[in-house]
Amino acid sequence: MTADVRTVPSAEDEVVDLCRDLIRIDTTNPGDGSGPGEREAAEYVVGLLQDVGLEPELFESAPGRANVVVRLEGADASRPALVVHGHLDVVPAHAADWSVDPFAAELRDGLVWGRGAVDMKDMDAMVLAVVRQMVREGRRPARDVVLAMFADEEAGGRLGAHWAVEHRPELFAGATEAISEVGGFSVDVAGQRVYLLQTAEKGLAWLRLVAQGRAGHGSQVNTDNAVTHLAAAVARIGEHAWPLQLTPTVRALLTGVADLTGLPFDPEDPATVDALVDALGPASTFVGATLRHSTNPTRLAAGYKENVIPGGATAAVDGRFLPGLSEEFDATVARLVGPHVRVEDLVRDTGLEAPFEGALVDAMVAAVVAEDPGAHVLPYMLSGGTDNKSLSLLGITGYGFAPLRLPADLDFAGMFHGVDERVPVDALRFGTRVLDRLLTTC
Ligand SMILES: [Zn+2]
Repeated sequence: MTADVRTVPSAEDEVVDLCRDLIRIDTTNPGDGSGPGEREAAEYVVGLLQDVGLEPELFESAPGRANVVVRLEGADASRPALVVHGHLDVVPAHAADWSVDPFAAELRDGLVWGRGAVDMKDMDAMVLAVVRQMVREGRRPARDVVLAMFADEEAGGRLGAHWAVEHRPELFAGATEAISEVGGFSVDVAGQRVYLLQTAEKGLAWLRLVAQGRAGHGSQVNTDNAVTHLAAAVARIGEHAWPLQLTPTVRALLTGVADLTGLPFDPEDPATVDALVDALGPASTFVGATLRHSTNPTRLAAGYKENVIPGGATAAVDGRFLPGLSEEFDATVARLVGPHVRVEDLVRDTGLEAPFEGALVDAMVAAVVAEDPGAHVLPYMLSGGTDNKSLSLLGITGYGFAPLRLPADLDFAGMFHGVDERVPVDALRFGTRVLDRLLTTC
């Protein structure tokens, strides 16, 4: 069949359908291997790319855990490639908590509802729609683009981006920068629209605390009780008031918010910092966790009988450290737990921070402002992580840029992994226009 350009939908026309199709394919990732996997969604993506003549590669890291990568030749093939990546998995949804079936992708009140509408089948759909449009129209991106749709991001990417970086690094040859999720959405600051471009990610340190002591009868005097040692260490860690430490990203964000609101900003004064964070509305939950290191005790285990003092006790701590400050974080944790408790890494992943400048940042800002004149773009740090951590192992600098122009009263930040995830149709269409501009100009 010959394609008739006039009957082929544009990226803006098809982005909503692509997003809904992806949401209807259940790719729940509980993190223990019991989910359906990403294979069906990956095959759907392969079909969309083959449909316009591309030759994507689908590869599995484990049965059903599928990733898709395709490279688009740029207008200037001598320039470093840009990785544009998304993940196909979603976190579990407990249907009883939702107002809609989380996998029905209902269209209601001008929004697409369902698990993944925010994280991140919205961006997946925008990227796929834009790439399909560019290929159909015979347009090339400004430079080579490596389009990647990964499995397993919601469990840390071990079977997705991390696996691909480790086993298939050649797919990313020549790439220096990447864009993906958890940034680029708008928030309202003092009545002005501000797009938060993610240029940094906190590091992650899931720690096991191991206390050892002298086992014995519960009736006897014991000054070397592992449970007492552990409890004291957990309390010190949990109650520790980590000091304010503003990285360049957070400083730039708060400086921008101060300019927009007229509020004072003194980096040494927590009260002015907190007031500026509050001015970000619902996004303050994201930003408030990026002002300092954090350590939250999450698990405890010890003992097997009331009158037996165990020889050991363990706890888990979810630690999040600021990029570039992991050594200082570790030293403080070691001091807080004290001499009777050993600290082991359960999971550790790097922090990231890129400057809010350079040609790609300029192109992202320009693409947003071209579609939303008068809007502001500010950098921010994500307190969690994305697949950009894995790509950083190849020296690739990643940004969070899934552009969405959102209504001021929509709590977008609160919908990541939340109930009633939903994204406005208008925002999806806006995002395709911005991403098309970006890929054409960056
Ligand atoms: Zn995500």
